[in-house]
Amino acid sequence: MTYFADSYQGARQNFLEAAERSNARIKSYPQPHLRGLDGEVLSVDVAELGVRHASHVALVIAGTHGAEGYAASAIMCRWLDGRTTLPTGVGVALVHAVNPWSFSFKTRTTENNVDLNRNFLSAWSVRENLAYRELAQFLHCSPMDAQEMLNAYRSYRAYLDTHGWHLENDILSGQTDHPDGLYYAGTGPEWANTNFRRILQAHAGKASHVGFIDFHTGVGEFGEVVHLVCAPKGSEARRQAMQWWKLDEVDGSPFKAGALPAYQGLLCQAISDELPDCRVAGAVVEFGTSDAYGMFRSDGTDRWLRNEGRSDPAVSLLRDQYRNACTPPDVPWRKLVLDAGPRCIDDLVTGLSEWTG
Ligand SMILES: [Zn+2]
Repeated sequence: MTYFADSYQGARQNFLEAAERSNARIKSYPQPHLRGLDGEVLSVDVAELGVRHASHVALVIAGTHGAEGYAASAIMCRWLDGRTTLPTGVGVALVHAVNPWSFSFKTRTTENNVDLNRNFLSAWSVRENLAYRELAQFLHCSPMDAQEMLNAYRSYRAYLDTHGWHLENDILSGQTDHPDGLYYAGTGPEWANTNFRRILQAHAGKASHVGFIDFHTGVGEFGEVVHLVCAPKGSEARRQAMQWWKLDEVDGSPFKAGALPAYQGLLCQAISDELPDCRVAGAVVEFGTSDAYGMFRSDGTDRWLRNEGRSDPAVSLLRDQYRNACTPPDVPWRKLVLDAGPRCIDDLVTGLSEWTG
């Protein structure tokens, strides 16, 4: 069977069927007032396994960046079909299409062009992101002119070679002053933000320990699996995550600046915020899809499609192209995702079951 769907509706159906085959408890959180690309109902679906109100909850999230969710959805279905008995006291909650509008429309951002993974801020104010202001001229170019795009990329690199690649991390950390730009945090909580908080209360509200994976694609080389652990060095949360996935602190950074960006407003931040008495550890797990220029092009294409390119006759082709950039229809890549993804969930469940104290 193929686990990779071509549409949100297909992915949702695969997930609900796999959850049913596993006798999971399914709870749906429909998104009001909005419909998907084909007029379909949009919903975040949660499949829960193991004891109700477990003390240890493994939380797995798909589709924070909509179009990247096609890979995570396939992983969840594959894991559901292959899973064995859960350890005592551990519950699993699979959160499918946490950002359903963007999953359906094959884009990164919400219906308001907000990057959901920069939207979990505790306070909003417009603050100037100087690096973004400097580099917007290269990031905001048209993908319809291939030579212009290449020139923009070369200028972007030259600028960073001169002024320092730490500026790229400043851009990636999130911004509030370019609503038409990448990594835009928005002006308040998006529907998907508020809804995810509701899901946390409903499915992990009684837990003492939560372990999480938020699956993404794009960071790392094609074929690489990258665990981004944001917990500070020396913390218990970091120690747990490093142990669960056998990670090594000396591994090189996938970012050219040599360090993780100082992300603001990540979705996983909501877990500790909503469950302050709970111990929380986990990682963003990324599957690399391309090289740096490929990523620059696809991010630029997605941004342009949400702004200047909205009415372009090639919109639907470009949307599929973007979705394929996030979830390559490449046989070895998809094989890697289906092999390594479910193993990451198994490691999470095992690690979590051994986490005491
Ligand atoms: Zn992502």
